[in-house]
Amino acid sequence: MSFFVLGRSAFRAAAPLQRSFIRCYATESTETKKSGSNALLYGAGAAVLAGAGYYFLSGSSTTAAVERAAQKAEETLKQAAASAASSEPKKAFTGGEQGWLSLKLEDVELVNHNTKRLRLRLPEDDMVSGLHVASAVLTKYHPIGADKPVIRPYTPISDETEKGYIDLLVKKYPNGPMSTYLHDMVPGQRLDVKGPIPKYPWEPNKHKHIALVAGGTGITPMYQLCRAIFNNPDDQTKVTLVFGNISEEDILLKNELAKLENTYPRRFRAFYVLDNPPAHWTGGKGYITKELLKTVLPEPKEENIKVFVCGPPGMMELISGNKKSPKDQGELKGILKELGYSPEQVYKF
Ligand SMILES: Cc1cc2nc3c(=O)[nH]c(=O)nc-3n(C[C@H](O)[C@H](O)[C@H](O)COP(=O)(O)OP(=O)(O)OC[C@H]3O[C@@H](n4cnc5c(N)ncnc54)[C@H](O)[C@@H]3O)c2cc1C
Repeated sequence: MSFFVLGRSAFRAAAPLQRSFIRCYATESTETKKSGSNALLYGAGAAVLAGAGYYFLSGSSTTAAVERAAQKAEETLKQAAASAASSEPKKAFTGGEQGWLSLKLEDVELVNHNTKRLRLRLPEDDMVSGLHVASAVLTKYHPIGADKPVIRPYTPISDETEKGYIDLLVKKYPNGPMSTYLHDMVPGQRLDVKGPIPKYPWEPNKHKHIALVAGGTGITPMYQLCRAIFNNPDDQTKVTLVFGNISEEDILLKNELAKLENTYPRRFRAFYVLDNPPAHWTGGKGYITKELLKTVLPEPKEENIKVFVCGPPGMMELISGNKKSPKDQGELKGILKELGYSPEQVYKF
């Protein structure tokens, strides 16, 4: 209970951020674009019906006139469909037989002592990634002399509507082959990337309240979900994040999460836990505990909730049990099981 008090005190019902932040999310929504395209098609469909109705009501008996009208209406529909299709941005990652795309590393930013943000150029400047939420990409490189390539998944942190690039947030693990390779890359080099690797298909309001339990770089798929939810004004899902890290400097996407807390104080709550907290720390201390999760997560008996978990293997084991394979969620174990959540209420990234 003591943590709850501390965590709650960390909430700020601060004034909403400038409109520009909200606008950037809302106006770039692909939903808006889709509905625009649909409106075009519905309009053309209405024109067809109106045309047919006119001939029916006017009692025209000339088959030729009816055929001409039908032909014209069909052309209008085809034009509308072509126009709707061309208004969709081109997608870089199309999956299926596409294989690996060789993407140029454009820029590297040092985020903290062990994490870099890598910006990769998509093949064309006006392309979007084509990733749907939630999904990841695979990266590949072939170490000299090795039999097999190294392949690892990453979740881009750039918005799905951004054109021309994707950003990866990569933490370097000691002796980790892929993260070391990525950290050693310099702008101008190329990286093989493949996607999308589908994870949990999100739809607006799919759940009433979701809980995100993340450790370290496990925040990246959670942030992808948050973007999808808060970018879309029609999505009213509530989100509770519990984010565990070793030290304060390890907290990734801190500013982005703070913006969400400030902009949506009633719908987004975040609780931070540190293994090695500094003296001034008012959040949780040590590991993510059963007591904390019991206090802050939506209860298992609540209607239509979902708990997402992503983090290092040790944390996964403690919270939910690890996945068996990318396609097998494995048994639900650990704290979430003890608290009464069902396997259907939990998703392991
Ligand atoms: C769906 C998915 C999305 C991912 N997204 C990201 C991302 O956006 N950014 C990112 O940096 N990583 C992400 N990862 C982890 C990433 O795929 C690699 O596992 C990680 O970069 C280590 O790879 P490596 O080859 O350097 O080291 P490995 O040889 O794979 O591992 C080296 C050591 O680090 C440990 N380790 C591996 N992964 C983790 C982890 N996530 N947390 C703690 N310890 C770990 C291993 O147990 C091992 O001891 C994601 C993983 C999954 C499954």
